[in-house]
Amino acid sequence: MLDPYLPRLLFIPLLFTSLAMAAERGPAVPDHPAERIAEDVYVIHGPLGVPSVENQGFINNPGFVIGRDGVIVIDPGSSVQTGEMVLRQIRKLSDLPVVAVFNTHIHGDHWLANQAIRDAYPDAKIFGHEEMRRLVEQGEGKAFLATLMRMTEGAVAGTVEVPPDHSAAQGDELVLGGVTLRIHYEAKAHSHSDIMIELPQQKVLFLGDNVMNRRMGRMDHGTFGGNIAAIERALATPAEIFVPGHGKTGGREVPEIYLGYLTRLKGAVVRHYEEGLSDFEMSPLIIRSLSQFHDWVDFQRNVGRHISLAYLEVEAELF
Ligand SMILES: [Zn+2]
Repeated sequence: MLDPYLPRLLFIPLLFTSLAMAAERGPAVPDHPAERIAEDVYVIHGPLGVPSVENQGFINNPGFVIGRDGVIVIDPGSSVQTGEMVLRQIRKLSDLPVVAVFNTHIHGDHWLANQAIRDAYPDAKIFGHEEMRRLVEQGEGKAFLATLMRMTEGAVAGTVEVPPDHSAAQGDELVLGGVTLRIHYEAKAHSHSDIMIELPQQKVLFLGDNVMNRRMGRMDHGTFGGNIAAIERALATPAEIFVPGHGKTGGREVPEIYLGYLTRLKGAVVRHYEEGLSDFEMSPLIIRSLSQFHDWVDFQRNVGRHISLAYLEVEAELF
């Protein structure tokens, strides 16, 4: 007869192994400079591309605003390590506490760093659209974290999800830390959960992933029509400085060029659809017509997928 304690004894070393793994933490993200884009407004422009061992999953544009009574952070990044790096840059410029964090949308490369802010400033309010909060409840944050762990080979280890605890909706106007913020939302844009954050005093608009600069976006969770509407909404604001989700900050040309890509691609799909072409047949024709965008990061990797998604969208719109 087997010793009844044997299974339990076998389990003990396994338990210690998993505890040790949970305690393991990925390496610190090296400092990236915070660039001043307007009075009291800074952006840390992350590397372009997808999460990798080399970039440790840091690929987005964390922003912050230094107000009279506190600091507001927008999209602190993908991991606890990135969030800690962002806090180090903030502390070079201000001793004020972080009083609020805004998450532009559900994709974890923008918000899984909330944990670092919450650890340092437990009273900071974290804002996101209610659709984002719903998606986190459905497990989207954990799924994204697992993908990041795989793509960075564990560089983000130690990160846990800290989702928004406050909702931000279309038309909201808030004053936090002495900073005025206005929220813009367009449903079904880049991810169905995208807010854009305007700083009316500084004439700055944080676009989230509704716009990227010289980099292809992921369209699997959004729609071309909604993304186009979101950019038109952004261009209708009085903002003069536009911060994309990835890529360099600039003027109106930043959203205008990305809008040009989306409208040209969708327009071409509609035209060829009406001619009776399949997505497979129209793909090389459209890729050739988009030659001005060929040097964008990840163009070749993503353009076929974009055409297929736009094709499905056009088909659904006609039925
Ligand atoms: Zn995104």
